[in-house]
Amino acid sequence: MAKQQDPAATPLMRQYLTAKEQHKDALLFFRLGDFYELFLQDAVVAAGALELTLTSRNKGAADEIPMCGVPYHAAGNYIQRLLDKGFKVAICEQMADPSKVKGIVPREVVRVVTPAIVYDDSALDARTNLYLVAIEESAGRFGIAAMDISTGELSACEAQDPEGAVGELVRLDARELLIGAGAEAVADAFAQLRPRAVIRRQASALDDDTATATLDAVLGKGEAEASGASAPARRAAARCLGVARECEAGQKPQVARLAVYELSETLLLDDSTQAHLELVRTMDGDARGSLLAQIDETKTGPGARLLRRRLLAPRTQVAEIRRRHDAVELFVTQPGLRSEVRSLLGRVSDIERLAMKLAVGRANPRDLVALGRSLEALPSLGHALSSCPDLSAREALGIEKDAPWIDACEDLCTKLSRAIDPDAPVRASDGGVIRTGYDKALDEVRTLAKDGQRLIVELETRLREDVQIPSLKLRFTRVFGWYVEVTRSHTSKAPKSWRRKQTVANAERFTCDELDELADKLAHAEERCMARETELLAKVLRFLSGHVERLRAVAAKLAEWDVASSLAEVAHRDDFARPEMDDSLRLIIEDGRHPVVEKLAAAGRFVPNDVALDAAGERLWLVTGPNMAGKSTLMRQVALIVILAQAGSFVPARRAQIGVVDRVLTRVGASDNLAKGDSTFMVEMKETANVLRRATRRSLVVLDEIGRGTSTYDGLSIAWAVAEHLHDVIGCRSMFATHYHELTELSATRPGSENFSVSAREHEGTLIFLHKLQRGAASRSYGVACARLAGIPEIVLARARTLLADLERGAPLPSGAHASLRRRDKTPRSQLGLFDPGPDARAETPEEKAARELMETLRTLDADRLTPLEALQLIATWKKQI
Ligand code: ADP
Repeated sequence: MAKQQDPAATPLMRQYLTAKEQHKDALLFFRLGDFYELFLQDAVVAAGALELTLTSRNKGAADEIPMCGVPYHAAGNYIQRLLDKGFKVAICEQMADPSKVKGIVPREVVRVVTPAIVYDDSALDARTNLYLVAIEESAGRFGIAAMDISTGELSACEAQDPEGAVGELVRLDARELLIGAGAEAVADAFAQLRPRAVIRRQASALDDDTATATLDAVLGKGEAEASGASAPARRAAARCLGVARECEAGQKPQVARLAVYELSETLLLDDSTQAHLELVRTMDGDARGSLLAQIDETKTGPGARLLRRRLLAPRTQVAEIRRRHDAVELFVTQPGLRSEVRSLLGRVSDIERLAMKLAVGRANPRDLVALGRSLEALPSLGHALSSCPDLSAREALGIEKDAPWIDACEDLCTKLSRAIDPDAPVRASDGGVIRTGYDKALDEVRTLAKDGQRLIVELETRLREDVQIPSLKLRFTRVFGWYVEVTRSHTSKAPKSWRRKQTVANAERFTCDELDELADKLAHAEERCMARETELLAKVLRFLSGHVERLRAVAAKLAEWDVASSLAEVAHRDDFARPEMDDSLRLIIEDGRHPVVEKLAAAGRFVPNDVALDAAGERLWLVTGPNMAGKSTLMRQVALIVILAQAGSFVPARRAQIGVVDRVLTRVGASDNLAKGDSTFMVEMKETANVLRRATRRSLVVLDEIGRGTSTYDGLSIAWAVAEHLHDVIGCRSMFATHYHELTELSATRPGSENFSVSAREHEGTLIFLHKLQRGAASRSYGVACARLAGIPEIVLARARTLLADLERGAPLPSGAHASLRRRDKTPRSQLGLFDPGPDARAETPEEKAARELMETLRTLDADRLTPLEALQLIATWKKQI
C-alpha cells in the first residue's frame, strides 16, 4: 500500500488544514472555484452521509487525499441534509476574486451552522421556534437557556431537580443540546424522549465570572446581573452565545436581551402529558389533529410561534391569564375590529425573522420588499385599534396609557417604498433592486445602459443636422470603439474639432468629444449601474439595521394581537366561553366539550358534560362505564380546558371556573413505548410513578385505567392504592377512570371521592352510547355488547355470555382460564368484579354443567345474527359437549 504522505505538502492543503484546525468538530466546506470541497476524514464522512462519490486529490500519487465536493449553487440542500443528520458544518469562503489574486486565494471560515442554526432560512419552519438549548448544573440545580438564532430570542430559567429540567428541555423541544458537567443524566433522559436531538457534551468547564463577562459583552455591562438569572442559568446562556458567536465568525451575536422566566409561573406539562393530550402533535407524530392545529388561526409566523409557546407553557398567575383573556374578549366582542385586524395581519410577513436577517446582514432584496409591504399595514392596524376608546383595551393589549398603539415605522416604510423596487429579485447581483426615481445618478447610468442604442441614434441625427451630412453614420468596432463615418465626398464638411481616427476605402472615420463622452459612459454603464446599486442598497441596509430593535418590538406586538384575534376567531367559530380564573382549588366546568373530538363528531352530536372538582371537597372522581362510552374523552377534555384557559384562550364550555393549576399530570390510554424496550405495564407504572411524585395539591391529575397491564389482583391493588394516595396524601383534583368496578367502593370510606359513570344503554342487543356523565357507578360493563360492536363472531359472543353468567352465579371458571380470575379474598363482591364462588358453592357434576351451559347459550343466542356457517359450527361444538 502506498504510504500516505504529509497532506500539508501543498500551500492549498496547508491553508485547508489551518482552517480545519479551528473547526475540528465541524465538516469543513472549503470553497474552490464553483465547488465546496471536503477533504480527508471530512470527505469520507460527508460522502457517506450524502451518498456522494468519494474521489481523491492527486489520485494515484503517494500523497493521495480523499476528497468529495458539491457545487456551490446547490450547497444549501447538501448542508441542510448534513444538519438534519446532526452534523455541524463550517463554511470556508474565498475572500477575494481568484482572477485578481496572484498566488493562493485567501480563504476564511465565514459561517458555522449546526442543527439548531440552519444555513438557509427556507429550512426553517415558519410556525415553530428552533432552539439551541444549553444546560448547566450547580449544586443539584440546573440552569437552562434556549436561543433561537433566527429571531434573536434568548431566555433562561432554573430547574430545581432533574425531572423539572427534563420537562423543560422537552417543552422547548431542543433540537440541539449543549451539556455542561453534572447534567449528563438529565441529557440522557431527554435523549430517550427526543432521540432526534443532537447532544453535545461541553469539553471544558465554564466558570461563573467568564459566563457573566460573556453575557455582558453581548447584552451590555451589568445586564447579566440585572436579568436576575441564577449562576447556572447565566452559564447556560453564555454557552448559547458562545455558539452564536462561533457561527457568525466572531461577530457579536444579535441577541438583545436575556429573558429570565420562573418555572413556577408556568403550568408544567411533562412529555407524557404533552403526548397523551396531543397538544402540538398526535400520537402518530402528526401536527394535524392536535389541539394546536385546531386552535391555530394565526396569520403570521411570529403569531403562530407565540401561540405554540403559550400552549406548551401556560401561565399560573391569575392576573396575567386574565389579561390575555381580556385581549381575546376585546376581539370577540368587536367582530368588525377582529376581521379588520386579521385581514391586515394577513398582509404582514415574518417581521421578527426579517429583523434578525437585517441584523446579521443576510437580508436579500426580496426580504426588503416583504418588510416594506408589512410595514405598510401598520398605520391601518394602529388606526383600527384606536377605535377602541377605553383604557381596558390598552391594558389588555399591553399598551401604555398615552403611548401610540403601535410604532408605525413610517420612516422605515418610506425609505423602503422609495428605495426598493417592488419587483426586486432575490439576489442583489441580478440588479434592478433600487427603484427608479430614488437616485439621480443611478437613473442616469441605468438610462445609459438601457438606452445606449437610442442615445447613439439621437446623437447621430443631431450630428447629421449640425454638419449637414445626411449619410453620416455612428459606428462601432471592437478595436476602434465608436467613431463617426463620413463618406469621402463629404469629408470637407467635418468640423475642425473632430479628430481623424482612420481612413478606409471611400470614407473617413472621425471621433469627437461628444461621442467620446457617450462612448465612455456606455462602456462603463453596466458596471457603474451595479456599483451604484450596491452602494445604495448597502446604505439602505445600514439604515434599516439601525432600527432592528424597533422592528422586533413591532413584531412582538403584532404577534400578541395575532394570537388574541386568532383565539377570538376560534372562540367565535367554536362557541368557546371566557373562563373565570381565580386562586381557589376548584374546577367547575359546565357543558364542557373536547375541542378536537367535538369536531370529529357529526354536527351537534357531541354530548357536553359537567365536572366539578374541589381539592378542599369532592376532589377525586372515579369514572366507570363501558369501553367506548367516552371516559378518556371526558378526562382529556377537562385537562385541555385547563390548559387552554391558562394559555390565555377561551374554552369549549358554557361556563368554566378554574382555580389555577400548577401541573397537569396524565396517564391516559395505552401508549406504546415498546420500541424503547419497556413493557406496556412498565411504561404505565413509570408514568404513574411520575404523576405521584410530581403532583401537588394544586395539580390536576387524570388517570385512565391504571393497572390494566398486569394480572387482575396486582392491577386492582395498585389502582386502589394510587387512588387512596391521591385522595389522602396529595389531595389534588383528580379524575380516575377505571374498569375495576371494586374501586367504586372507595367512595364509601373516602369523603372526598365520588363515583361517576358515563352512560350507555343496551337496546335490542346493541349498545347505544349516551356519552353523558352521571353520578353513581356504572351498573354493567356492557363488555359483551361492545365486543359484538367490534365484530367478534356470534359463536364467541355466545360462549362469553355463558361464561359471564357462570361467573355472576359464582360458579368456578372452567379449567385453563387465567389464574388471576380465580379465587380472591376480601374484595367486595360485585357483579362486574372478580367472582368469588364463596365457601358454600356446591360444585355441579360435569353433566349438569354441560347441560346448563348449553341451555344458557341457547337462551342468549341471537339467532338473527348467526351466519349459517356459525350455526353449523355451534351444532358441532354442542355435539362434542354431550
Ligand atoms: P372510553 O375511554 O370510555 O373507552 P373514549 O373516550 O375513547 O371512550 O370515546 C370513544 C368514542 O366515543 C370517541 O372516539 C368519540 O368518538 C366518542 N365520544 C366520546 N365522548 C363523546 C361525547 N361526549 N359526545 C359524543 N361522542 C363522544
